[in-house]
Amino acid sequence: MDDLQLQLLIDLHISNFRQGPGGENETRQALKLAGVDNSRPLKVADIGCGTGASTLQLAKELDAEIIAVDFLPEFLEELQARAKKQLGSSADMITTMNCSMDALPFADEEFDLIWSEGAIYNMGFEAGVSAWKRFLKPGGKLVISEITWLTAERPFELQSHWDAEYPEISVASAKMEILERHGYSPEGYFYLPPRCWIDNYYRPIREGLDAFLDRNGTSALAKEIVECEKAEMALYDKFQDYYSYGVYIAKKI
Ligand code: SAM
Repeated sequence: MDDLQLQLLIDLHISNFRQGPGGENETRQALKLAGVDNSRPLKVADIGCGTGASTLQLAKELDAEIIAVDFLPEFLEELQARAKKQLGSSADMITTMNCSMDALPFADEEFDLIWSEGAIYNMGFEAGVSAWKRFLKPGGKLVISEITWLTAERPFELQSHWDAEYPEISVASAKMEILERHGYSPEGYFYLPPRCWIDNYYRPIREGLDAFLDRNGTSALAKEIVECEKAEMALYDKFQDYYSYGVYIAKKI
């Protein structure tokens, strides 16, 4: 991705509450399934945190030191501003780290909980869960959302779209098998319902498209990005019964 494209994507997404499908109830549900022992302060990493929808919620719900990682400094600055506004002096629970998820500088067994919503696909699910395992304490928990087929079979149009976009997309049982193979014990799974996509993610994007084009309309690339977003929304609208983000909760053995 070149620099202009990246700047346009930042511009499109930065003012929205979240940068991928998700929801407050679903983050809470995942936290409950993870069953973390919060009787003592925890150390948590939120990888691919964006502007911090999940980071801020984790900070509100846990007694924890949280490292929020993203490779876009613009998103991290926005996260820090939101943390100050929402958490006041507790904003210092969160440290931001501008780093790529495939080159994390963490120590072995540093974390009680590794969290990542809608981001691990950037390095691939299997590469991510395998590389991040050493950062978890034994018995530590991993909570990941990952694009997932909801059915064993699906229409050709949809299959070929995802084969091109992210060939690692698979059914939940295959993702759990990967977790098991890499030394985790799967402890929970659910998938995000349509409102996490439509109300929480696509609607704010759709509502911002005209202003985005006003700011960047002379750029052919901006128009292309808008068309791409619309095509992605139409695809979800048509095929939402077949795919979603699966949320995986697993324990490091
Ligand atoms: N977790 C956030 C949420 O749910 O709102 C953001 C999800 S967004 C779909 C994916 C995030 O991953 C973006 O913030 C993007 O900047 C970040 N990202 C992409 N590639 C990355 C990489 N190699 N290392 C770290 N972060 C990356």
